[in-house]
Amino acid sequence: MTKQMQNAIEKAKRVKCAVKLFGSRAYLVVNPKGRTYKVTFYMRDGQRFGYCNCAAGSREVLCYHVPVAALVDTGIQNMRAH
Ligand SMILES: [Zn+2]
Repeated sequence: MTKQMQNAIEKAKRVKCAVKLFGSRAYLVVNPKGRTYKVTFYMRDGQRFGYCNCAAGSREVLCYHVPVAALVDTGIQNMRAH
């Protein structure tokens, strides 16, 4: 895990965001300031990748919105698997 990923995950735990399901693998993440970002997941080579449309995400920088949505995505995928 890279330092950047660790930082993003730590921030995801600190900042309380609301997550809404937007599509089969897409989520809307609303931060405490009320700004909404769209996070989309896709599978490549059996690994999950997340893309966010915020300023950092569009520069291919991992932002904290992706791990926030990933937690919800993992929960939903687990529910479907059982
Ligand atoms: Zn983002």
